Amino acid sequence: MNNYDVIIVGGGPAGFTAGIYAARGGVKVAIFTGLQPGGQAALTHKIENFSGVKDAEGYLLVNTMMEQAISFGAEVLYSSIEEVDFSGEEKRLVSDDGETYYSKAVIIATGAKNKLIGLENEKDLIGKGVSFCATCDGGFFKNKSVAVNGGGDTALTEALYLSNICSEVYLIHRRQGFRAAQILIDRVKSNPKIKLVLDSVVTSLRGEPLQSIGILNKETGEKKDISVSALFVAIGYLPNTDVFKGKVNLNERDYIPTNNKMETNLEGVFAAGDVRDTPMRQVITACADGAIAANSALDYLISR
Ligand code: NAP
Repeated sequence: MNNYDVIIVGGGPAGFTAGIYAARGGVKVAIFTGLQPGGQAALTHKIENFSGVKDAEGYLLVNTMMEQAISFGAEVLYSSIEEVDFSGEEKRLVSDDGETYYSKAVIIATGAKNKLIGLENEKDLIGKGVSFCATCDGGFFKNKSVAVNGGGDTALTEALYLSNICSEVYLIHRRQGFRAAQILIDRVKSNPKIKLVLDSVVTSLRGEPLQSIGILNKETGEKKDISVSALFVAIGYLPNTDVFKGKVNLNERDYIPTNNKMETNLEGVFAAGDVRDTPMRQVITACADGAIAANSALDYLISR
């Protein structure tokens, strides 16, 4: 009963797309999503660069991918994988509810988790002013002052979203140049509610719930406090590969290297999406990875 042809670990765009392609290939597929399917994309309020879908709501887009995978026969299991053994031809995976599963091929699509700034009380303040998701928590800070930390696509998207809800949004970034798409930079710079605090890092968090943040300008050495009710941390991601350490090759930053067929160093084990060592982490590239990984897994099953 717990034997599959393809097990996909991860329920984001890469995992569900792999599920669609593998299930359409006529094999028995399980997708492990953990308690909350959708991954980072489901937390993004607006995705406007997934070609063919204008202004997609992240959650709806990924939910449709999940429904599509199910419609082709993939099973979705809302548990996490906590242990793996890839040493044999039959791969063994143990879920957090203690069940053991076996599969001929495995696709790792576990994505990435939010990076923390590293301040001592940062974790304690999660849910009390520190957040990683404007779509989820922005509504709690209606007409309040908030801050966003980061200079990539996520930070700028979050700042723009919050500017529609909050009275003012401080965008704190550690240098002058942004890493984000130019269209987002232009929108942020012309938004009167967004105040840029550049060359600066967040050094402290005060109050519980959060009342103010300490800022250090790295160029001038100037320190100041900004009164805010929330800090949205958007400084990038770390791969979700803890469970695979020592089981499959990881690079120096713990991402999984693959070739262009999404093959890892192990036969029958593939990786797709943000967890992979890749130059681009977008919903559309994650989906493409998922499709290729599923196709390679199907080829692998035929060749065995
Ligand atoms: P990112 O592109 O890695 O940007 C992280 C930002 O945080 C950078 O500006 C970085 O500064 C800053 N940062 C990193 N570590 C820091 C630290 N310790 N302290 C202060 N600042 C720090 O991450 P992301 O914006 O979350 O995006 C991740 C991927 O998702 C990207 O590929 C992005 O294109 C994609 N994405 C796409 C969309 C979209 O297309 N709509 C939306 C969201 C995300 P430096 O620039 O100085 O390194």
